[in-house]
Amino acid sequence: MKYYAKPLTKLIGEFSKLPGIGSKSAQRLAFYVLSLSETEATALAQSIIDAKLNMKYCSICGNLTDVDPCSVCTDSSRDRNTICVVESPRDVSAMERIREFRGLYHVLNGAISPMDGIGPDDINLKSLIIRLQGSEVSEVILATNPNIEGEATAMYIARLVKPAGIRVTRIAHGIPVGGDLEYADEVTLSKAMEGRRDL
Ligand SMILES: [Zn+2]
Repeated sequence: MKYYAKPLTKLIGEFSKLPGIGSKSAQRLAFYVLSLSETEATALAQSIIDAKLNMKYCSICGNLTDVDPCSVCTDSSRDRNTICVVESPRDVSAMERIREFRGLYHVLNGAISPMDGIGPDDINLKSLIIRLQGSEVSEVILATNPNIEGEATAMYIARLVKPAGIRVTRIAHGIPVGGDLEYADEVTLSKAMEGRRDL
């Protein structure tokens, strides 16, 4: 990297740690920040601090929220008989965009991946099982990603949940295999939900 004064080098270094940001993009972002007014730059820095300090995981569903329990868990208009299990909070926002699903969510914040040493205890799964016990939930929709980890996770959860007499369904493969739920367009996601099959 070319020589830059210390504060700028540090800013470039921080940006280059972000996912998908190479050293060129990091430099571009750093120079962009320098071009901002002091007010704008402070607002940017403050929003990072505020998000980090105020966002937490919902103690019921595991979604990211600033209030616990989250607004979905406390929304009395939602259908409490159905829980849609997803891998990440970004998947919840993808599902919410299609506006068809009116049930509740459970966010695993990960997926089972033996190759990476991630087992069932390393994701937010135990709380789902506890949540289902004595609940009014009659269907669990497994909307984990259609890749190896997502499929393995779905199979594992199905084996745990089905013996309790709860219907377990898996969303259809409208989403390209290996793709992420969060990147699926609304029509694809809507069809994937519609075409879900029993496990
Ligand atoms: Zn919640």
